[in-house]
Amino acid sequence: MPVFGLGTWRMGEHRDQFQHEVDVIRAALDMGIKLIDTAEMYGEGGAEEVIGEAIRGRRDELFLVSKFYPHNASRNGVVEACERSLRRMDCDAIDLYLLHWPGSVPLSQTFEALHQLQDQSKIREFGVSNFNLSNLLDIPDADQSNLGCNQVFYNLAHREVEWEVSAWCCERSIPVMAYSPLDQASSLLRSPAITGVAERHSASPAQIALAWLLHQPGTVVIPKSVRPARIQENFDALAIELDSEDLAELDVAFPAPDSPVRLGMR
Ligand code: NAP
Repeated sequence: MPVFGLGTWRMGEHRDQFQHEVDVIRAALDMGIKLIDTAEMYGEGGAEEVIGEAIRGRRDELFLVSKFYPHNASRNGVVEACERSLRRMDCDAIDLYLLHWPGSVPLSQTFEALHQLQDQSKIREFGVSNFNLSNLLDIPDADQSNLGCNQVFYNLAHREVEWEVSAWCCERSIPVMAYSPLDQASSLLRSPAITGVAERHSASPAQIALAWLLHQPGTVVIPKSVRPARIQENFDALAIELDSEDLAELDVAFPAPDSPVRLGMR
């Protein structure tokens, strides 16, 4: 799986933005970005429709991630949700299909449906999102080590996943996919620690926030932007190597949790 992808939350919500968003995704593919993250929830299918238009004729170039609602996590619900997503994206398969957050449907049902979709080649891998350790341990035993990823809220200002979830995933070689890696362009990007490191690297604060995540083992980032210049800026973070001085300064300003903490969620 590529370690850098484009997020699409808030895309597909306004019809008058459709062509612009299609063009943005095509520009991202032209830059060499190979992973797109979406969900049936984004624009209630609208983001998947934008993606369907943008990737027409280019499906083989990329790794497509989508997610289904917990209220669609039943045996038939997952299969039907996946088929709707495939129709909207006008493609035969999703590379990685995730349960968006934990719900009330027994996970044995959900994973049975995911296996069926895999057997039918409608999905290549499956995984979860927003799962804390107790949620992960509720997954049927045989599937715990087969997860394609756990997609979680993770950035320098929100390191809750490091309390116990990262280690569990790392021990099983399950990628941690960091969502809201820029903390949704919050004050994180104006923090003196980040701007100081950014100046030393002649980089932007967003690039440092992403480079720090990419330095964490087994971590994938999926920043979202609808501006090609920013997408290129974010993608260029892959070339930044943080040194021990940078990492130490960022650790002081944004310490890892040292006591039990709930996994954050957006
Ligand atoms: P994010 O990627 O941390 O931040 C996106 C915001 O940052 C947008 O407002 C964007 O504005 C701005 N931005 C992007 N690049 C920038 C840069 N270089 N400098 C300054 N501002 C920049 O937040 P996110 O969209 O919440 O998370 C990313 C993706 O993760 C989502 O799109 C979605 O695919 C996924 N996600 C998953 C979950 C889940 O529950 N599984 C939850 C949240 C998000 P412009 O667009 O105007 O550039």
